[in-house]
Amino acid sequence: WKNQPPTLRAVFEACRQHGEKIFLVYEDERVSFEAFHRAVAAFANDLQAQGVTKGDRVAIIMRNLPEWVVGFYAAVSIGAIVTPLNAWWTGAELEYGLTDSGSKIAIMDAERYERLKEHLPNCPDLKRVYVSREMEEIAHPLVTTVESVLGGANDWIKLPDQAVPAVDLVPDDDATIFYTSGTTGKPKGALATHRGVNSNIMSGGCAGARAFLRRGEAPPQPDPNAPQRSTLLSVPFFHATGCFAVLNPMLWLGAKLVMMHKWDVIRAFELIQREKIQSAGGVPTIAWQLIEHPLREKYDLSSLESVSYGGAPSAPELVRKIKETFPKSAPGNGWGMTETCATVTTHGAEDYTNRPMSCGPAVPVAELQIRDPADGVTVLEPNAVGELWAKGPMIVKGYWNKPEATAQTFVDGWVRTGDLARVDEEGFCFIIDRAKDMLIRGGENIYCIEVENVLYDHPAVMDAALVGIPHKTLGEEPAAVVTLKPGAEATEAELRAHVAEHLAAFKVPVKVKFWHETLPRNANGKILKNELKKLFEGEQA
Ligand code: ATP
Ligand code: MG
Repeated sequence: WKNQPPTLRAVFEACRQHGEKIFLVYEDERVSFEAFHRAVAAFANDLQAQGVTKGDRVAIIMRNLPEWVVGFYAAVSIGAIVTPLNAWWTGAELEYGLTDSGSKIAIMDAERYERLKEHLPNCPDLKRVYVSREMEEIAHPLVTTVESVLGGANDWIKLPDQAVPAVDLVPDDDATIFYTSGTTGKPKGALATHRGVNSNIMSGGCAGARAFLRRGEAPPQPDPNAPQRSTLLSVPFFHATGCFAVLNPMLWLGAKLVMMHKWDVIRAFELIQREKIQSAGGVPTIAWQLIEHPLREKYDLSSLESVSYGGAPSAPELVRKIKETFPKSAPGNGWGMTETCATVTTHGAEDYTNRPMSCGPAVPVAELQIRDPADGVTVLEPNAVGELWAKGPMIVKGYWNKPEATAQTFVDGWVRTGDLARVDEEGFCFIIDRAKDMLIRGGENIYCIEVENVLYDHPAVMDAALVGIPHKTLGEEPAAVVTLKPGAEATEAELRAHVAEHLAAFKVPVKVKFWHETLPRNANGKILKNELKKLFEGEQA
């Protein structure tokens, strides 16, 4: 553990050893580690000239662009707290993010600027707005372009070789505020330290590090002479997975990061072929689309060695499908939350093929407990279902500006996850459901994920979600929304019969509705169940 990079600034400084190797690929731009170093140094100096000091919040509000990465490392390296906001948010939601965090600086792309410009006068803490390089100079006292500071990405190598301003930074200093996905309520800002963010690098993200940590040894530093790995970044940087589980470990390892502006399966095929990508994935829906898309066979995807995902439940069938479709590829799964800076459990190799329902054991520096949800204290026996609690250096300090929610969720170094799970005798964790999603039908618990997995098993089903619909005496009853694979057919009665073959009668959806495309999800790949419930409004079970 002692070889862990102490701060994000140290992760950034170490990247220079990879010199002229390519780090970021974006459209026709290719940025070497050396060029990236120069751009970050230039931007950090500009931020300092704008008066940014340690502890100030710097918001980043954009889709994936190279300036997201430059802005992130420039700000954290001078001790600012980076506050990425969800690019899917409306102008009013973005205003909430800016005022809740009290951000002094905002870095945004053209679309977000259009959405936010009317709201800027309501954000009194804002001292400077940088807009992305796609935009022309704007006549506005607050606004400047990233272009005016850095120029074009292919020219970053010509920027002067300067140092990032010196700032005293220790591992327990604040580094980021990432907002939760807002699946169960209003998004909350989770305040993470440099140590918390970096724990991903040495636990989940760094190939091979886990084996060393298990043996109680410090993992070696990455070798700049090792063959370079290439990774497809297909999830947004503004959620913990994209930034913590992909970007930071890849920078530390000296990998090539091929960025997608946003997810598009055909574009992903083109990039995997062109850039000989070895690892892809992100969230389960992305893995499914790579497998199921009818045009897949037109592309050479033979470079793929790993397809991994996390952030949302995945059907066990996905493991078999990956092995079948990409024989050279290892499937991987991981569980985590914004409150844990992403990775807490990881799962791969034979462990995963043997236990496709699990999201793996805790990484060596984390601990899991299953507690009685009723009291939040009693620790349950192996295999009992209860609420999952997690502890380790990755747990965030708390929620920004929310002392009550912080006190309820963070107790003695443990985080209460809101997930129902069981952990077996060997330490493998199985997510059963979100506590808030679980249905109670006449006193019997119905775990959505269990029923959804059975639906996924039906050959015609591409996507499935279970929701509760109100019932006068039973409280609620299960109902399903299903998307069929292109060209496949199945009736409501067939799907109900399929579930009845595998599960107890009370778990069989009383209604099944069909959806025309992939089910609605948020930016983190999570199904928007509240949207689906509306389909049943006014209908009694
Ligand atoms: P909010 O907390 O605002 O309601 P959220 O919980 O969806 O939103 P995140 O922090 O992005 O916000 O997601 C964490 C949650 O994602 C976990 O609590 C869990 O329910 C789910 N999750 C993450 N990884 C996995 C996984 N591998 N398998 C199943 N579920 C997962
Ligand atoms: Mg949550």
